[in-house]
Amino acid sequence: MTATVHLVTHPLVQHKLTLMRQKDRSTSSFRRLLGEISMLMAYEVTREMPTQLITIETPLEAMQSPVIEGRKTVFVSIMRAGAGFLDGMLSVVPGARVGHIGLYRDPKTLGAIEYYFKMPADMHERDAIVLDPMLATGNSAVAAVERLKETNPKSIRFVCLLAAPQGLAHFHAHHPEVPIYTAAVDRALNDHGYIVPGLGDAGDRIFGTK
Ligand code: URA
Repeated sequence: MTATVHLVTHPLVQHKLTLMRQKDRSTSSFRRLLGEISMLMAYEVTREMPTQLITIETPLEAMQSPVIEGRKTVFVSIMRAGAGFLDGMLSVVPGARVGHIGLYRDPKTLGAIEYYFKMPADMHERDAIVLDPMLATGNSAVAAVERLKETNPKSIRFVCLLAAPQGLAHFHAHHPEVPIYTAAVDRALNDHGYIVPGLGDAGDRIFGTK
């Protein structure tokens, strides 16, 4: 199976990402830019949503016009940085449901340990869009999607802001059928598992915790 990476090269996304990378950017500005980028990325990730024609009346005449088919979307936020993506996505797809997955890294094994998992009941009827701004080692993304697959959603897509080549390779090795949407693929990971050049710790920068 061919793994797919959709690189979102739109100039507005790239411009805002550059501003977000700057180390002196304030928390409020960082958060606002992430919200704006997530709205723009929502366009890309929902591009394949099927539409159907319905008959409507304009003030002048009747016409057939497309609406999104009655499919159901669930945004799945990987805590905690996924929350930064959520509002922008929901402003474009307001009817979507939201699931949360909480994972932490075991300090001994470095494996991802689940501490929270809450999804809507009707997952088998939903297209899942998984949100995590940083695809670094890929450990938590791989574990999150593995767990999500147990709920049997109709489809899964993964959206991040930045990816490292190692994270992409790791993710593809486990979930080759899940398309990834990202605004950039950076050079590498450093010894602490941070994406370089990157933008630092996304959670800390969204929530102002450092
Ligand atoms: N998580 C982050 O927030 N930043 C990175 O660079 C890597 C993982």
